[in-house]
Amino acid sequence: MIQFDVDLAVIGSGFGGSLMAMIGQRLGLRTVLIDRASHPRFTIGESSSPVANMVLRDLIQRYSLNRIEAICQYASAEQMNPEATMGIKRGFSYFRHEAGQPFQPRDDRSNELLVPGNPDDQTADAHWLRADVDQFLFKQVRASSIATMERTDVTDVTHEDRWCVAGYHGEEPVRVWAEFVLDASGGTGVMLKSLGIPSSDDGLKTKSRTLYGHFTDVGSWYDAYREAGGRVENHPYRCDEAAVHHLIDGGWMWQLRFRNGVTSAGLVLDQDRHPYHPDRYPDEEWHLVVERYPTLAQQFKGARLHEATPHLIGTGRLQRIAERSAGAGWAGLPNVGGFVDPLHGTGIAQILAGIERLAAILEHSWGRDDLTDQLEAYSRTVRTETEFIDSLVHACYLTMDDFPRFASTSKLYFVASAMYEQRFREGRIRPEHAFLCADDEGLRDVVARIVERVTRDAQQPTEERSDPAEFDRWIEQQLEPYRQVSA
Ligand SMILES: Cc1cc2nc3c(=O)[nH]c(=O)nc-3n(C[C@H](O)[C@H](O)[C@H](O)COP(=O)(O)OP(=O)(O)OC[C@H]3O[C@@H](n4cnc5c(N)ncnc54)[C@H](O)[C@@H]3O)c2cc1C
Repeated sequence: MIQFDVDLAVIGSGFGGSLMAMIGQRLGLRTVLIDRASHPRFTIGESSSPVANMVLRDLIQRYSLNRIEAICQYASAEQMNPEATMGIKRGFSYFRHEAGQPFQPRDDRSNELLVPGNPDDQTADAHWLRADVDQFLFKQVRASSIATMERTDVTDVTHEDRWCVAGYHGEEPVRVWAEFVLDASGGTGVMLKSLGIPSSDDGLKTKSRTLYGHFTDVGSWYDAYREAGGRVENHPYRCDEAAVHHLIDGGWMWQLRFRNGVTSAGLVLDQDRHPYHPDRYPDEEWHLVVERYPTLAQQFKGARLHEATPHLIGTGRLQRIAERSAGAGWAGLPNVGGFVDPLHGTGIAQILAGIERLAAILEHSWGRDDLTDQLEAYSRTVRTETEFIDSLVHACYLTMDDFPRFASTSKLYFVASAMYEQRFREGRIRPEHAFLCADDEGLRDVVARIVERVTRDAQQPTEERSDPAEFDRWIEQQLEPYRQVSA
């Protein structure tokens, strides 16, 4: 039997688990990092953002993690860490496609939205090829002499006077005795399962599922846009050097290009509009959907699935929220506590914001009486964030078929994001504060009002809804007080 006796056991060595293991060690905790897989391994959740990079930089500075600084930006990653493949991300691009018709750029740009995230290539954010980035971080964990165990499946976690994390490394039983367990196992939610904590889609409004994979030889969207007569000189950045969202009927496709020629692409489908067929293979469904949109079909005509995903991966409903994500002596990263949808790519940033909060809790309350109270508060915050993101995303799904309204509704996310960024830079985000200012009562009221209106509008035929310009003015009016804050 393999045994460890530690202060902190971290389950899951994605970027979140590796960061927590390094921070734990910096805080003087004897730490072990355990994963059932071994690096490099494929995983999804690849698009970083200005907020993600800002929080990551802060963590690097606060906990002297200088060796990982390279991954904060595309340009520095290329120069300092060429082994970790990234893709340049200048912003968020959205294009609306019509079934049966090639994409037709419009002079008034009413079927597209480009939101810059940074001013130039030097300061650009990055898409993370997670196999590489997670492996890079895992190597840093090892280089810091933290104990690691790969190919070790955690099967149960129990508590007597300390935690006992039980699992297997091959055939060999493993027991880790720990004061604190940090669950970074993502959707597996090892601690939730071990402690019998329910996690379900209860109360979440977004209802989507996805099909995704890594491809090579995907045609360039930038070229397709130009060939269709689009004027790229009017764009604030090259439109495909971004998290590209192609909106279709009842869903959307993401496209993220990496510098090694691989493109991550996935269809995210509203489950009510595209019910799940258990007898349909994801590859088959992908073709059925993509073939309806000639410009997308053309882009994927010569594309092949990359060896990382020999077949497309299909999921059931993506949304889940756990009753709790922390308690006495344990905590889960935010994506253990819940997940909504890849729209706008909130995942990485939310996890980093959660890590910042957890690190502060461990730093200030380890061994003190208030530790459990702090963890309970963290758990409530994760729920608040998940519900808030659900509202933002749900509102966007309700307007997805009506692009000008979708563009107006998306402002909710960008304003919340800018507000969080500004408060963070001003040092006004304290450990108890939520990602995207989800705990700001006023902002939550505005979001609730907008969700109520778009829900009502969605029940009416398009021609009976108010004019998109009036709708946009109304949204601007709602967001006005928060724009001033974030100006
Ligand atoms: C389809 C989809 C698209 C997404 N797109 C984006 C995006 O564009 N941008 C974004 O920011 N976020 C996105 N996300 C969210 C993102 O995937 C996650 O937030 C992110 O991957 C979580 O990273 P992590 O390190 O916490 O966990 P993970 O990367 O999930 O790592 C968990 C680790 O735990 C290990 N593990 C699991 N169970 C056990 C066990 N029993 N014993 C031992 N080890 C175990 C696994 O092997 C794995 O290595 C997306 C999510 C989905 C589902």
